[in-house]
Amino acid sequence: MEDIKRTAVVTGAGRGIGRAIAVKFASKGYNVVINYAGNDEAANETLKLCKETGCDGEYVLAKGDISDEEVVEKLVSDALDKFKRVDVLVNNAGITRDGLVMKMSTEDFDKVISTNLRGAFLMSRAVTRPMMKQRYGRIISISSVVGVHGNAGQVNYSASKAGLIGMSKSLAKELAARNITANVIAPGMIETDMTEVMSDKAKDAVRASIPAGHAGGADDIANAVAFLAAEESGYITGQVLGVDGGMGM
Ligand code: NAP
Repeated sequence: MEDIKRTAVVTGAGRGIGRAIAVKFASKGYNVVINYAGNDEAANETLKLCKETGCDGEYVLAKGDISDEEVVEKLVSDALDKFKRVDVLVNNAGITRDGLVMKMSTEDFDKVISTNLRGAFLMSRAVTRPMMKQRYGRIISISSVVGVHGNAGQVNYSASKAGLIGMSKSLAKELAARNITANVIAPGMIETDMTEVMSDKAKDAVRASIPAGHAGGADDIANAVAFLAAEESGYITGQVLGVDGGMGM
């Protein structure tokens, strides 16, 4: 079979887990679209790290809020103009606005659902048609252990992450016959800016619940994404893969 140059679109790839995923794809020779919200400096660092892999992919920055329909449509059509195909979508962009339910504002609920779930819906919808035409696609969404088990103080976040699981299973059923898979990764505690803001006490409490005894790194998630994105993983769809040191058992 003719060798196809693959293209991956990674949302929230400016920092943390998304950056590790973007660099992983670059190291495998993919073209990579690096989406991020506003931190230009961080996104440029991701771009630099992709280039430093020395592979022959092309890398583009795509700044924009993925909860905005127009932004998403443009992002995907620009990617198609440039690379002619989108093989992999990683719905990674995510935010938290934690608080106990009694005190959680409607705004904080909506904001988290909008970024984490609506954004993933808009992105998935936008890539579906080109993936169907190609008869090839891999959609991977980054949920969380709390999307499966819930967590006090994260009603909005856990609802968004549970929503990703239901959405991915439905996508998997709709798209399987076209050789498009949809899977979910549910990370446990991963050391990034997102977890950096937790108090030491909260971090210690979470660590105590991890059988492996320590937090994970962004590369642990990137490795799992690469596995699910591989051509050889085409018979795996609608699954939720915990990458959490055993935390979710
Ligand atoms: P992070 O370090 O806070 O990075 C988040 C990334 O998302 C940044 O690049 C940010 O862009 C981007 N982003 C935020 N809102 C966006 C929007 N509306 N449109 C486009 N991009 C947006 O987070 P992380 O820890 O790497 O987390 C990545 C994913 O893993 C999230 O979905 C998170 O919920 C999930 N997760 C993380 C953990 C963990 O322990 N860290 C555990 C479970 C699940 P800027 O850089 O421009 O701000």
